[in-house]
Amino acid sequence: MTASIHSRLTRAAQVLLALLPLLVVPTLMAVASQTRAPMAAPPALPPPAEVDGFDFPVGPPDGAGYIVTQGFQDPASGRGDHLGEDWNGPGGGNSDLGTPIHVVAHGRVAMAQDLGDNGWGRVVRVVHRMPDGHEVESLYAHLDRIDVHEGDLVERGDVLGTMGDAHGRYSAHLHFELRSMARLPVGAGYGDPDGLYLDPSTFIAARRPGRVEPRRW
Ligand SMILES: [Zn+2]
Repeated sequence: MTASIHSRLTRAAQVLLALLPLLVVPTLMAVASQTRAPMAAPPALPPPAEVDGFDFPVGPPDGAGYIVTQGFQDPASGRGDHLGEDWNGPGGGNSDLGTPIHVVAHGRVAMAQDLGDNGWGRVVRVVHRMPDGHEVESLYAHLDRIDVHEGDLVERGDVLGTMGDAHGRYSAHLHFELRSMARLPVGAGYGDPDGLYLDPSTFIAARRPGRVEPRRW
């Protein structure tokens, strides 16, 4: 019985092997003829609009009604090596869960992903083009909901998602970072800013729309 099945299977395999060139060769020829055709370059993404100033990520445009509960590199409100700011509503606990989070300046979404239950949760990163041509990046973490997609062009004040708790790991808050260079690794949230992480509130306060000469920042 077993031998008979085996020999039938073997014959079937031999037939398939014999047919294989008939199936594969025309396919390869078709692929080859297609690849000879000139390939269209992927369309280049238009650059994001140059920033015209920065607003705060909650309580826009100026953060009214919201507080920083752990500041940037601030031992008075945390470990002292925090690479961003933790923003909360005034009510404490999870009373601010679901608060809309706003893009701080015109830009393009570089990341809109759930990084999982590793402390980051859902994260959005937006790259901004400064008037002098260099890029800065804003990062919004622990979100409850993400409302944008990677590649989206966004404008200052657009809602990108809502405040969350990083999959139940913390009381709801926004962990917000500003970086002097785009597309760094996601990082650890704490450490030496090394010139790559900016003090978010200080940076934004000095660059409110209409309050600065754009070419001088
Ligand atoms: Zn934080």
